[in-house]
Amino acid sequence: MHSLWKDDEAANCNSELELRVYTSRLLGQDKTLVLHGGGNTSVKITEKNILGEEEPILYVKGSGWDLETIAAAGFAPVRLEHLKKLAKLPSLSDPEMVNQLVTHQTRATAPVPSVEAILHAILPYPYVDHPHADAIVAITNAVDGEARIREIYGDTMVIIPYVMPGFDLAKLCAERFAVEAGPNTIGMVLLNHGIFSFGQNAKESYERMIALVGRAEDYLKQRKAWDVTPTAVPPAHGMELAREQARLRADISRTAGFPVIVARHANDKSLSFARRVDISTIAQQGPATPDHVIRTKRLPMLGRDVAAYVESYKKYFATHEPQAKERKTMLDAAPRVVLDAELGLCAVGKSAQEVGIVADIYDHTMDIILRATALGGYRALPAGDIFDVEYWDLEQAKLRKGGKPLQFTGEVAMVTGAASGIGKACVESLLARGAAVVALDLDARVTALKTGANFIGLQCDLTSEAQFKQALEQIVEKFGGLDMLVLNAGIFPGGCRIDALKTEEWQKVMRINLDANLVLMRECHPFLRLAPRGGRVVVIGSKNVPAPGPGAAAYSASKAALNQLARVAALEWGSDNIRINSLHPNAVFDTGLWTPEVLAARAKHYGLTVDEYKTNNVLKTEVTSKDVAELTAEMCGSLFAKTTGAQVPVDGGNDRVI
Ligand code: ZN
Repeated sequence: MHSLWKDDEAANCNSELELRVYTSRLLGQDKTLVLHGGGNTSVKITEKNILGEEEPILYVKGSGWDLETIAAAGFAPVRLEHLKKLAKLPSLSDPEMVNQLVTHQTRATAPVPSVEAILHAILPYPYVDHPHADAIVAITNAVDGEARIREIYGDTMVIIPYVMPGFDLAKLCAERFAVEAGPNTIGMVLLNHGIFSFGQNAKESYERMIALVGRAEDYLKQRKAWDVTPTAVPPAHGMELAREQARLRADISRTAGFPVIVARHANDKSLSFARRVDISTIAQQGPATPDHVIRTKRLPMLGRDVAAYVESYKKYFATHEPQAKERKTMLDAAPRVVLDAELGLCAVGKSAQEVGIVADIYDHTMDIILRATALGGYRALPAGDIFDVEYWDLEQAKLRKGGKPLQFTGEVAMVTGAASGIGKACVESLLARGAAVVALDLDARVTALKTGANFIGLQCDLTSEAQFKQALEQIVEKFGGLDMLVLNAGIFPGGCRIDALKTEEWQKVMRINLDANLVLMRECHPFLRLAPRGGRVVVIGSKNVPAPGPGAAAYSASKAALNQLARVAALEWGSDNIRINSLHPNAVFDTGLWTPEVLAARAKHYGLTVDEYKTNNVLKTEVTSKDVAELTAEMCGSLFAKTTGAQVPVDGGNDRVI
């Protein structure tokens, strides 16, 4: 642990709130302290209200904000005196607590204050820092955790037994603090939950936190419980493993009731953890801190028996639901973390972003479990306590806030020839509908086309079977399978009449426009047939299929053959619930091929203006890449759920086709 505080950076902060933002971000930068929205911080500031009266305000982290990236707007200003009065009530329900927090803010547009706001309010220090530090949860989840914490901290910390976050925890802390805090007190440890530090200023509170967590880490080092470097394990790859992963994704999606992303982490750490002989003990205790349950569920699934996992989840629900204050509806019973000797760690979620969070949390959890095990044993909280947090209305509300999922949430699409033009537009249309999208192209620019967890761009020569298989394995490892395939890549060589057409030119066009697509369809088929909502293939054909033109023999023949291939696939793969449809665009000019000079030359050739040339169709309308891409995406959606083997023109109407 080392302090990231820099005097010159702090000097740029012009207010106490800005300093609070600064040190909150310092905490957030260290993932062993704060992970994905965990933890919270506050500062108490006296301000003048609109009547000119001085009023102490608690600025506390708003829910939905992450300490790493928090801004001043992420702190909710709540009237401190009111919070202190609330803390004296004998009891307060969760909904009423949230109502009180929200209705006693001084800014209507502020976020909902953290559910730990009252706890921050009762601590008599201007600055309060509260992360769920890995070292603290490792020790408090170990055998004799409380005694170890007392040994490490002596009388500098007030120690609070586990109580679920919310009003009862705030009240217990207030009582304990009044009795146990002394002149040496600089913080508080919440067993199985996290740690607090306090200070008169931002630097003091932050640097105390660094020192306090550092002491816990030193303790682990002294007890030889720090170093958990994994043993090297030979990496497992190969198409058969990819298929196993896709089968697992299909099973989990069926159980969840919606398609999920399944990311495989077959690194030394995950594989050696999953292969431990004591895995069924150490990984079946529970999460390191209760709020992880909403991301990871209480327990990982060991192996791939989804039905057995569901049975045990149902039992867990049936055992603990009757003790709840109000009736609960069971959440989906699908696992979010899978530990498998062959697959390693698989993280499961509704989106690639969610899966990244799950994987990060479990990556830290493995360290915590191994360190607690080295101290003598990992003991998480009893299942009932975890159930209370998993089914806590306030946590459920956080999940619900995401709103209605987008159409292709949890699904995976692959687009070929995606670096520019129609392919690039397809990537955008599919991403906009929530799909995780894989973009392939020979052009290296494809790798930097988009950013974000839902996108991978891979440079790939589709005429190389080996390169494509490698790309496919990589995609399945990252997302778990394939639901949609958009065959867009193709070349259109310059005009050449048959009597002058070279064999090599003909073969090159066939190799790219036809042969490569056969390989893609064949290799993707085992994955498409496992797609939770059925596989979908969209072939970007051409007007040249129904209406060929002179001078384009190789192109027209290759696209016509591809069209016939797609029709046969529609017949063969219908029983696998895979739909294949074709689009026939024409005269799409907003692609790289059509520079203003080329357009002007072609228009002149036909005696037309550029605008007349672009809209030279029955509807007198211009067809753009986006028009083609939107129709492609819709063909993958529910509108076309009952259509396969169809060919749809997207050309503004062509009199030769009609
Ligand atoms: Zn907490």
